[in-house]
Amino acid sequence: MREVHVDRITGALEELFIDANYNLSQNVLDTLERSIGKEGSPVGKEVIRELIRNASVAKDEHVPICQDTGLAVTFIEVGQDVHIVGGLLSDAVDEGVRRAYEKGYLRKSACHPFSRKNTGDNTPAILHVKIVPGDKVKITVLPKGGGSENYGEVRMLVPSQGKEGMRAFVLEMVTKGGPNPCPPIIVGVGIGGNLETSALLSKEALMEPLGKRSADQAVAALEVELLDAINESGIGPQGYGGTVTALDVHVKMMPCHIASLPVAVNIQCHAHRIREMTI
Ligand code: SF4
Repeated sequence: MREVHVDRITGALEELFIDANYNLSQNVLDTLERSIGKEGSPVGKEVIRELIRNASVAKDEHVPICQDTGLAVTFIEVGQDVHIVGGLLSDAVDEGVRRAYEKGYLRKSACHPFSRKNTGDNTPAILHVKIVPGDKVKITVLPKGGGSENYGEVRMLVPSQGKEGMRAFVLEMVTKGGPNPCPPIIVGVGIGGNLETSALLSKEALMEPLGKRSADQAVAALEVELLDAINESGIGPQGYGGTVTALDVHVKMMPCHIASLPVAVNIQCHAHRIREMTI
């Protein structure tokens, strides 16, 4: 069995969260560039150019893309032939988050829900661990701002509401958010499972590369249909009106109970910060 020391995981987390917050990925930059040609409004086009300039300044000056450097959402896939040594995986992750947010001058946003007292180091991380085949550890970080996260929701539809019910729910959430989640947005939709798995699926959907369609033809068709419908909403870049409200929509689906149709919507902003590393 391959041994991976927790120090490597802490180091990876430190590096990934700083990198994600300073450098918008090429995939997002390319998508923003392409969206200028799709945007019908001159103001909308200029807003997208400003977002690209903002990302460029952040990269050159080693500062965060946005002041909201998010909660430290972390997905780890641990190969079942890996033995984590030297301490607890969750402690190693929190230590990596602590160091990244301190060293990178990233805003610490985690607080007590009632007192609103800041935890002081952006911990605990929002950690999701999955056991997978193999002897590797894959870490994906997704610092997630509050402005976009606030417009996510899980709704337990009934089966008779079907695809039309799902579509109406997604559009309701996008319209409710309007300019607040800093469009152009990315929409993650989780369908099926139960209440908690649909929410997780919607977050996982956000980790798909922009422009990639689901391998399931029916799901891929739904992604395109939802993207077109959202872009017809007229909200536009940063809510100034226009034809580019969303950069993409990703849907993840799994079987559900015969009596239920769980659907979750998770909205991401243009500052779609994501990084991964395999150890
Ligand atoms: S929604 Fe995104 S871009 Fe807007 S303030 Fe939050 S993190 Fe920043």
